[in-house]
Amino acid sequence: MRGTTVPIVQADNAIGLDLGGTKILAGVVARDGSVVRRHERPTPLDSQEHVFAELEAAVMELLDDSVGAVGFGVPSPIDQAHGLVVRCVNLPLEDAPLRDHMRERFGIPVGLDNDANAAAIGEWRAGAGRGEDDLVMLTLGTGVGGGVVSGGRPFRGRNGAGAELGHVVVVHDGRACQGSCTGHGHLEAYVSGTAATAAARGAFGPSADAHRLVRLANEGDAKARELLEEVAGYLGSGIGSFVNVFGPQLVVLGGGFGVAAYDYLQGPAEEAARREALEPMRSTVRLAKAELGTAAGLIGAAFVGFEALDAAESA
Ligand SMILES: [Zn+2]
Repeated sequence: MRGTTVPIVQADNAIGLDLGGTKILAGVVARDGSVVRRHERPTPLDSQEHVFAELEAAVMELLDDSVGAVGFGVPSPIDQAHGLVVRCVNLPLEDAPLRDHMRERFGIPVGLDNDANAAAIGEWRAGAGRGEDDLVMLTLGTGVGGGVVSGGRPFRGRNGAGAELGHVVVVHDGRACQGSCTGHGHLEAYVSGTAATAAARGAFGPSADAHRLVRLANEGDAKARELLEEVAGYLGSGIGSFVNVFGPQLVVLGGGFGVAAYDYLQGPAEEAARREALEPMRSTVRLAKAELGTAAGLIGAAFVGFEALDAAESA
């Protein structure tokens, strides 16, 4: 991670919070994307009230005069019109009015976004996508998250629920998707860390997982490399379609599995994507590895806070 020691030069920071299934990661972030201070605490799983209380406590831990806004990245589709967390798969939040609650609690502008959108915004502002106006980010972890920056603005769709790139069809009537998704053949079912773990177990027994698959590939295991290449092929098919839709200069791969397996995924995924993509995108698009690690979400969430601050100031 870069720039953790940059001093505060103006009272113009935002707090970003990345709400995960096990941890709340929070940080005070400057306009240049550097993290001034950090804090983390466990995510409670028992009730919405408790989650809200812990998010408030995380803000309180970091709040000072330098902070002008707060932003949240949440693993759920977001209703931007009403500031609602629509529904988390792994957390007790449903139609949760997080934005207004926090705005009333702290009296400063509050922004809210999907966690994968926040990660994409973080990489765009301070990581692998700095200086690009058009990028697509895929986070390969337990699931597959997607985020898009288009024409220098985060893409959110009409209500704020876009872009769920993990849930596009790459195989008609293919594998059943995960969690509450009723779809089949979705990208997530083929390229998530969970899918890689399933492939690893099929080849190396019940104790294998995605981490071991990458480790075996590092050790030169031909079967492990073949399985990762297969994952990369599906990934490239998806990326080729995203390139045709969004016309990005850059596709950033992040998430625990995406970063760990990057060296195996990048080549074959890029090749498959170029096969599907049309010119001129085919020639110009490139893949890059996410740079911010686990800080991408909180940095991006802080920029969602800055967005709310700038909107409030120009209103
Ligand atoms: Zn799905």
